[in-house]
Amino acid sequence: MAEQQRADVAIVGGGIVGLAHAWYAARAGKRVVLFERSAQAQGASARNYGLLWPIGQPAGFLLQMALRSRELWIDLLNQCKVPMSATGSLHVCYREDEEAVGKEFCSLGPAQGYTCEWLDPQHTLEKCNALRQKNLRGAVYSPLEITVDPKAVLAEAPRLLKERYRMEIRYSSPVRRVEPPVVETSSEAWRVDSAIVCAGTDFETLFPGEFKTSGLLRCKQQMMRTAPQPDNWKLGPALAAGLSMRFNPSFQICPSLEGLKKRIASEMPKYDKWGIHALVSQTPRGELTIGDSHEYGQNTDFYDKAEIDDLILDYLDSYTSFNDRTIAQRWQGEYAYHPEKPFFLATPMKGVLAITGVGGAGMTLSLGLAERICKRFFE
Ligand SMILES: Cc1cc2nc3c(=O)[nH]c(=O)nc-3n(C[C@H](O)[C@H](O)[C@H](O)COP(=O)(O)OP(=O)(O)OC[C@H]3O[C@@H](n4cnc5c(N)ncnc54)[C@H](O)[C@@H]3O)c2cc1C
Repeated sequence: MAEQQRADVAIVGGGIVGLAHAWYAARAGKRVVLFERSAQAQGASARNYGLLWPIGQPAGFLLQMALRSRELWIDLLNQCKVPMSATGSLHVCYREDEEAVGKEFCSLGPAQGYTCEWLDPQHTLEKCNALRQKNLRGAVYSPLEITVDPKAVLAEAPRLLKERYRMEIRYSSPVRRVEPPVVETSSEAWRVDSAIVCAGTDFETLFPGEFKTSGLLRCKQQMMRTAPQPDNWKLGPALAAGLSMRFNPSFQICPSLEGLKKRIASEMPKYDKWGIHALVSQTPRGELTIGDSHEYGQNTDFYDKAEIDDLILDYLDSYTSFNDRTIAQRWQGEYAYHPEKPFFLATPMKGVLAITGVGGAGMTLSLGLAERICKRFFE
């Protein structure tokens, strides 16, 4: 084992939550070392849509955190020179109950902090020419949603942290012991004042006792991507529809949502069974990212299910038509979540903070969450 090196803070995990905390600590003037067990981060942060999606957050402190996070994201992306598509989002409505929820959301939402407007069919089609015209009743438009390439972020943010903030970053370095002042990997030992553990779905390795009683679970999702669409063709806003309205907690401010949920439960039970909604966004390379499903549990089934992909694509085809919807890639991702909390925080020992369970909103919330947590932790 090499001689101990020195830092103020050790971060465990090179996903977006780890990077967000590292960025905050580095800007606060701390000497930071970050450890990622793989040669590059391959967890949920690499496998997601890259959507910064404030419209999905419930009204109140999580929406405010998402909006603050968005400001920080724009700053980070500019510093890293990673492109973003600030296209906003559309929740398109083809059924009477979806229209009722959409209109209600646009009338109640602004007072709760949402930036949104109801578009009639003509204005909806002007925003996105991939939408089917037949039966289109309109859409909720929000200008705030941003799409980024998660892999570009995971490559460029560490570069920025190293070059501008002189951070030490160790890839292929699984951490096996966190007991400040000592943090140990298989090849190095570091002396630190504190450690922030952002290990995603790996609850068990470092603090098995804490996590046994935590209530944390895993959620598996199936995702797909097309080949790049023709040059110069742009999707415009990221697209969601009625299925997403029942899924995004933001729409819970609408009394009419119950009717929509009941209709989907009776008309489309398989979509409820697999927790499917059909979101689509476009990468900077022009591909369409399509998803997703939600299978919950302590140990989720590792087999992908052809039925789930078919259900997602059938629903997508019911409201969109693309030049080329041939699927070029399929993959699965898994995130940690807590059934009752929007994120999970633990202090397994003095000087150690463990943070995970940001669920399906980790990209959206990460930077705002890290700011909130670090402000208190470093006080
Ligand atoms: C398919 C999918 C789509 C999603 N889409 C979106 C979206 O569009 N918008 C959104 O806001 N959110 C989205 N999410 C959620 C979001 O991706 C996650 O909430 C977020 O990425 C979690 O980040 P994390 O850093 O906690 O976990 P991870 O990204 O899993 O990172 C944890 C890291 O810790 C490392 N690690 C673990 N143990 C150790 C150890 N002992 N030593 C060293 N390293 C270790 C792992 O190797 C891993 O790289 C999606 C999630 C999935 C799965």
